[in-house]
Amino acid sequence: METIIARAPIPRPGPVIAPVVAIDGPVASGKSSVGQAAARRLGLAFLDTGLMYRALTWLALRRGLSVDDAGGCADADAIINLAHRSPVAIAGDGSISIAGCHPGDELHSPAVNRNVSAVSAISGVRRALVARQRDIAGDSAGGIIMVGRDIGTVVLPDASLKLYIDAAPETRARRRLAQMYPDDASAVADHYDRILADTIRRDGLDSRRADSPLRIPDGATVINTDHLDFDATVAAVVDAIRTASYPR
Ligand code: C5P
Repeated sequence: METIIARAPIPRPGPVIAPVVAIDGPVASGKSSVGQAAARRLGLAFLDTGLMYRALTWLALRRGLSVDDAGGCADADAIINLAHRSPVAIAGDGSISIAGCHPGDELHSPAVNRNVSAVSAISGVRRALVARQRDIAGDSAGGIIMVGRDIGTVVLPDASLKLYIDAAPETRARRRLAQMYPDDASAVADHYDRILADTIRRDGLDSRRADSPLRIPDGATVINTDHLDFDATVAAVVDAIRTASYPR
């Protein structure tokens, strides 16, 4: 005789864990805009840690501190103090304020671009900002995507998923130029060599510094975007997060 067993409806599986996603990668790899779009799609919190280093660099320049080669000069102590005394606040819309100021687009000014790698090479600065980044992750009960250079290696080594978004320096230089001069093909051509050289310079500073150098974290999935457009990269990231966070 056949035994009929009543089966309970299979519940739609929820996430095993609130995803804690580390995304690292070099300058202009697209990780910030891709990470933000993926976070929006999945309803996760999002933090672009590069903006915190940029805000501190902006404030240090404004205060007239010597930032160039800061790792080896006396103003490093003043910059570390600034990092402790002037926590970066991030509003709900993602806008950044520091010491009561709103730097806005100046976070991406040429002066900040030139100096941010030197500021972020100072160990005391990193200690202050990493502590704040871990607090933000701890407060994000529903999961978070955090983007930077050392997220999978240092800030969140136990992240549930580590991604490394990469592209050739030439691709990244072209993307930076397209953002800087969206409607001006001749400006893009004129500035290509300079922006490519700057991209390679910043890669070198970020990956050769002593404290928390940029590298592919152990266990990370590498997504190369040389031949992926923005939407395809977001889809790949969303897919990777879903695969890592939901039972099959
Ligand atoms: O990502 P973005 O280009 O805005 O970062 C600006 C700079 O901040 C990087 O070039 C790097 O020197 C520094 N940074 C860092 N660690 C992070 C994020 C950014 O050292 N987690």
